Amino acid sequence: MDEDKKRILIVEDEDSIAELEKDYLELSGFEVDLEADGTKGLEKALTTPYNLIILDLMLPGTDGFDICKEVRKHKDIPIIMVSAKKEDIDKIRGLGLGADDYITKPFSASELVARVKAHLSRYERLRGSVKEENQIIEIRGLKIDATARRVWVNGTEVPFTTKEFDLLYFLASHPNHVYTKEELFKEIWKMDSVGDIATVTVHIKKIREKIEMNTAKPQYIETIWGVGYRFKM
Ligand code: CA
Repeated sequence: MDEDKKRILIVEDEDSIAELEKDYLELSGFEVDLEADGTKGLEKALTTPYNLIILDLMLPGTDGFDICKEVRKHKDIPIIMVSAKKEDIDKIRGLGLGADDYITKPFSASELVARVKAHLSRYERLRGSVKEENQIIEIRGLKIDATARRVWVNGTEVPFTTKEFDLLYFLASHPNHVYTKEELFKEIWKMDSVGDIATVTVHIKKIREKIEMNTAKPQYIETIWGVGYRFKM
């Protein structure tokens, strides 16, 4: 399987339509799975990492209404619903099942491909912005969420004070860079070396007690004797 290819599931019981959709989507560079039975289609949709689902409304087994509702409970990927009847489309729109788009049969293959591409890129944009919002650093069991200002050690959340968090995040976001206590003091406490740089030492000690298995042999924040500290990548 090509890792870069987007995977699409088509649940459609009319073979000729299903094959046509599959051919055009494959020609456009997508990887496509077909399923004619609604119940099997739902199972596939829930257990396989698809990027998009094209769903016929009337199907043997579970119908398109119920598949859409059920998939929506678990996944936020785009769902395009297809129906032969304009009235059905109006009806499902009204139900608010969470489908992203509706197409009435017959439709042109190029229209379907265009809509698939539009929904995939819209979805990626939304996902992309979510990722940017939550800046997360994860290193060897230590997880730092810069947005939420939360820290986990091997899956367990550990409470941090504001300055402890600022100091840990600053070091972790500049891995392998050695900082002097003076530099760290200026960076975190925003004062020009008039403060007590022993504060830095105290905070490093507290952070180590929270994140290190063995504070005598720190695996994250290393002391560089006579210089300062560095976060080991
Ligand atoms: Ca059908």
